[in-house]
Amino acid sequence: MAAAKKSATTSVKKVAKPAAKSPSKSGVPAAAAQTRPAKRVTPEVARAAWDKLREQHPDAHCELTHANAFQLLCATVLSAQTTDVAVNKATPALFAKYPTAKVMAAAEPLDLEPLVSTLGFFRMKAKSLVGLARALMANQKGEVPQTLDELVKLPGVGRKTANVVLGVIWGKPEGVVVDTHVQRLSQRLGWSHETEPPKIEQDLSKLLPRDRWDMTSHVLIFHGRRVCFAKKPNCEGCLANALCPSAFKAELVGRKPARVRVPAVIAAPASKPAKKAAPKKATRTSNSRAS
Ligand code: SF4
Repeated sequence: MAAAKKSATTSVKKVAKPAAKSPSKSGVPAAAAQTRPAKRVTPEVARAAWDKLREQHPDAHCELTHANAFQLLCATVLSAQTTDVAVNKATPALFAKYPTAKVMAAAEPLDLEPLVSTLGFFRMKAKSLVGLARALMANQKGEVPQTLDELVKLPGVGRKTANVVLGVIWGKPEGVVVDTHVQRLSQRLGWSHETEPPKIEQDLSKLLPRDRWDMTSHVLIFHGRRVCFAKKPNCEGCLANALCPSAFKAELVGRKPARVRVPAVIAAPASKPAKKAAPKKATRTSNSRAS
């Protein structure tokens, strides 16, 4: 028992060390408490930083493989909660078998499932793709619509997916696509203090001219994947470091709060004996109350 107690205490100390530097009585771990956006910069600084990032990534583009609007729409639906790399591995076989909305509309979700089974939520996504193809056939003559209002009415298509298609295919997005990289970098660069994608999108849309909206997401995604990594951003190798308020201190800025594991680990040693003793305690408690 003593040994068990000792090991429990040791493990708590190990996990709780970072919290001691920044104590949080609310129980929020230190990493989460420190995760915050950088100081906001002026529009002039933001645009100058944008130019530097564009210079660093002249080839920035949508990395989802596609040959037309329908394929990009499908690939973007498939990319939810997974990586572009994973989607690009699955889509060649998918598009070879179902190249158009007409062909896909005649299939059943079960037919598509084996082709997208490497992706998360593949059953739901297969269902969305077939629903999407059928809706295109029923309402759009098999063509992908060119307006946000029509796109978001399609099954599995939200504002983000719609703007990917509007920006990449037709060069007329109705906003900035905010994914996890855009979210993190917007905060690090001081372009937004918000943490929710719709609010970040609003900030970016106000900050940057419309003709930069589409490229903004490509540039930030390129930068997030190649330089401004979530855990260890390469600020030395960043052309915008003189214009970034988080430069060389960005590790915790803009990152999603760590999963709240610390309180659970701390609580575990205390709760373990309590759980075992619970039935006996109930009896004793009633006795003691009676006494
Ligand atoms: S790499 Fe560093 S300097 Fe560049 S945008 Fe990211 S945090 Fe800022």
